[in-house]
Amino acid sequence: MNSPHVLISGAGPVGLVSALTLATAGISVTVFERHTKPQDDLRASTFHPPTLDMLARFGLTDELVAQGLVARYTQQRDRKEGLIAEFDMSLLEGETQHPFRLQCEQWKLNTLLLDRLALLPHVKIVLGAEMQTVTQDAQSVTANVKIDGHMTAFTGNYLIGADGASSAVRQSLGIEFEGFTYPERFLSVSTDFEYADHLPKLSYVNYVSDPEEWCVLLRVPTLWRVLFPTRLEETDEEVMTDESIQTRLQNLLPKDTPYNTVHRTLYKVHQRVAKEFRRGRVVLAGDAAHINNPIGGMGMNGGVQDAFNLSDKLVDILISGASPDLLDRYERQRRSVAIEYINANTARNKKNIEERDPDTRRKTQNELRAIAASPAASKDYLRKTSMIDALERAESIL
Ligand SMILES: Cc1cc2nc3c(=O)[nH]c(=O)nc-3n(C[C@H](O)[C@H](O)[C@H](O)COP(=O)(O)OP(=O)(O)OC[C@H]3O[C@@H](n4cnc5c(N)ncnc54)[C@H](O)[C@@H]3O)c2cc1C
Repeated sequence: MNSPHVLISGAGPVGLVSALTLATAGISVTVFERHTKPQDDLRASTFHPPTLDMLARFGLTDELVAQGLVARYTQQRDRKEGLIAEFDMSLLEGETQHPFRLQCEQWKLNTLLLDRLALLPHVKIVLGAEMQTVTQDAQSVTANVKIDGHMTAFTGNYLIGADGASSAVRQSLGIEFEGFTYPERFLSVSTDFEYADHLPKLSYVNYVSDPEEWCVLLRVPTLWRVLFPTRLEETDEEVMTDESIQTRLQNLLPKDTPYNTVHRTLYKVHQRVAKEFRRGRVVLAGDAAHINNPIGGMGMNGGVQDAFNLSDKLVDILISGASPDLLDRYERQRRSVAIEYINANTARNKKNIEERDPDTRRKTQNELRAIAASPAASKDYLRKTSMIDALERAESIL
């Protein structure tokens, strides 16, 4: 191999951010994506400030802001009591170039990234290409990929496994995905109904606690997305009927006519972290390396932050001749953050929003009120919920 070449499994946000970072530094990149065309399903919809700071390196943040909604405030609510606490993200001024959350669909980032990558001659995006197995030796790594029913081998200096929660790369290496799956599933329904006209002072990001059925209300440019937990005794088919979805929406906010729903997705939710993020020339990032519940919006953000950390290190190794041991630092930094911050915070967010014990709920809500009443405490809280603390922690790990 003459010029450095990195293989990437998966054209989600993590694979594509990695591809753009590497290719911009002059490294040849081949991305394998099992789908035959880009997906536009509704998944993550929140960009946290540090992710926006990172994407600004490529001028992508302004383009995303133009297609999204700037959320200056986030709210903690209670289904019966209404607003509990509101947090003003402008308190993060000086900590970030983007002191707000951007509400914007994840697929819009993928589209922008694909447009940028299409301009670079040393980038190949191979669609309809399903990664099967990975082998490696001291000099190179080989991806065995199924394309049109035929196996083809591709060789590179390194391979990034960014192929999502069921990562074929992770499975091929036999790396354990430690953690657990929640017994309930999450239902995400989107509607063009304007909640803000009916729930006073609603912000674009609202976490609504309830001992029976909590929910999250998130605005994206044309829709409201409502996330509910399912009950253990309900089958998937029962959850997805029109009647059951209308009942959930009507219980949240009764109205005379049925809700018009635009999308509905039911999915399993996990808290898992891969036991290793690096094995030789193969490195895992994003959902392939860690998955978590979506309360707090840390999945895609954590993955994009992995992608920048990892690709910058690969550039140092392949262009500047740094030691490959740098990849062990990637594992130490990002695995620690996945365990200590992303999984810990999202698990705690779920516990708080669904808390059934009235005393514990009252105590948590009073704590939130006290934090919101103090600008200094609010700033600390926002540094944590916006993942600024997590990045500082990663930087401190050698
Ligand atoms: C239904 C749903 C809703 C979600 N909602 C939220 C949310 O509200 N907030 C939040 O923060 N996060 C949410 N997430 C999580 C968020 O979408 C992920 O954290 C994010 O997509 C991770 O990006 P990624 O690039 O690592 O993985 P993905 O986006 O999963 O991308 C992986 C890519 O790899 C491809 N691929 C998979 N296997 C192979 C293979 N063998 N060969 C080649 N290609 C392969 C896939 O087709 C895909 O394009 C949601 C996820 C789901 C599934």
